[in-house]
Amino acid sequence: MGNCLGCEKKLGFWKGYSTMDGEWCKDCFPKRKEILEKLEKEQIENTSKIKKEELERKNKENEEKERQKRIVQEYKRKCNSCGKIWHSLKSEEDQLISGTKLNALVGLSTALTGNLGTSAQSNRNAQSNKDRLEDLRKCPECGSRNYSEELTEFEGI
Ligand SMILES: [Zn+2]
Ligand SMILES: [Zn+2]
Repeated sequence: MGNCLGCEKKLGFWKGYSTMDGEWCKDCFPKRKEILEKLEKEQIENTSKIKKEELERKNKENEEKERQKRIVQEYKRKCNSCGKIWHSLKSEEDQLISGTKLNALVGLSTALTGNLGTSAQSNRNAQSNKDRLEDLRKCPECGSRNYSEELTEFEGI
């Protein structure tokens, strides 16, 4: 014997009633229909509460993601030679960096498999990404690579 479904009282041997739903004490057994309805209602409420919380959590997550997407990170660089200040988007540099890596990787693997045309093309892509990156990382005024930088963040629209 287990516990009574209605009052959760521990049932002694042969003291309770057994139904398809579970076991009942002699007090709860006559009221089992009512109790079951109440239990079911509670369960539905709990489920919808959990669902609601889940939904709220998801909404919050999405909002945060959207906010993160709107945040623009930018390098603010100052040339140590001529004092020129310029800006460069972090996302663009990141893309160039990952593009360089990817193309270098493709270049390497195709070189290994003997497809030299593709390999050369990938290396060229890697090279142009690298060039572009180098351009962003030198003073547009005097071409110096001696600069100080800080990463700034602002929320775009
Ligand atoms: Zn009971
Ligand atoms: Zn400069």
